[in-house]
Amino acid sequence: MINVKNLMKKFDNVKVLESIDFSVKKGEVVCLIGPSGSGKTTLLRCLNLLETPNGGSIMIGNKKLQLVGKPPSKKDTIELRSYSGMVFQGFHLFPHKTVMENIIEAPLMVKKRNKTEVIKEGEVLLQKVGMFEHRDKYPDSLSGGQQQRVAIARALMMKPEVMLFDEPTSALDPQLIGEVLRVIEDLAKEGQTMVIVTHEMNFARRVADKVLFMDGGYIIEEGPPTQVLENPQEDRTKQFLRMID
Ligand code: ATP
Repeated sequence: MINVKNLMKKFDNVKVLESIDFSVKKGEVVCLIGPSGSGKTTLLRCLNLLETPNGGSIMIGNKKLQLVGKPPSKKDTIELRSYSGMVFQGFHLFPHKTVMENIIEAPLMVKKRNKTEVIKEGEVLLQKVGMFEHRDKYPDSLSGGQQQRVAIARALMMKPEVMLFDEPTSALDPQLIGEVLRVIEDLAKEGQTMVIVTHEMNFARRVADKVLFMDGGYIIEEGPPTQVLENPQEDRTKQFLRMID
């Protein structure tokens, strides 16, 4: 489903990702963990070209892109992005649109789909994330956890092969984190392929098939949570896990 080879990213000539290789199979949940500044968000953003990598290749779904110095074309960018849905730390909902209007926007405008059908699908997804009764409300009348659940439904509306989550709970008050993590866990049980940047180690333990530990722009260690989180082999992983305990 995802295959990344030798990915490299620089900001102002400073390398923040080096020789990144990893793959995600269909139905797998991969959690990216690591200290602040290790490159997790940058790697996730490279996967849908919100950041343009400076080298390497990315394959998602049926699209393979070789990054060779020049930025990818608009056509290639749109095609690669069509395979993934992104959920950000801050929810990025349209403030002047209701919950339902927010989630039907892309299928209507991008895919030019039939509105009645799209609304029906929207209702099903809002039920799934527990937001159906709020469908006519505006984002500013919702809690952060509710807004994030709408953002998840909005990304799912495009039926992405892969969901990408960038620290989906780190902007939330502690009491709202659980409701968002539960929605993501339900998606995992349904077999949704996902890559999740997270600082929630217990969540990663429960949900991940594979954990990637990053430090200094490299993947230092990867494997099932029982290995990377319970029995890490690398000193840097051990040190990180001790620090956050
Ligand atoms: P955190 O857990 O704090 O979100 P992270 O592991 O996600 O950290 P990144 O946000 O990917 O780390 O940042 C990796 C490095 O790249 C950091 O040194 C950061 O300062 C730098 N960086 C990220 N975005 C930019 C940018 N747009 N311009 C310049 N440097 C950047």
